[in-house]
Amino acid sequence: MEQKRAFLDITVSLCPYCGAPYADASWYASELGCDVECGVCGRTWNPKASKVDRILLEFLLDENGKVIEVKKKKRMRNERGVD
Ligand SMILES: [Zn+2]
Repeated sequence: MEQKRAFLDITVSLCPYCGAPYADASWYASELGCDVECGVCGRTWNPKASKVDRILLEFLLDENGKVIEVKKKKRMRNERGVD
């Protein structure tokens, strides 16, 4: 039987004020570019401007759709075409 798979594109960013790391869905953090409030220092900042990485996660699922394992599928190219 073929392995079921699901994918999630995530953006990793660092709070520019305190350095706290965050991983958010890229449709939100990179595409919409919404501001977020840091849960550590409480300041507001933009994850798109403070992005340090963007990767595609691959979820291996059982026959009922439950997650068995998560893998890093690939690193996504950013808007400037540079990794
Ligand atoms: Zn912070």
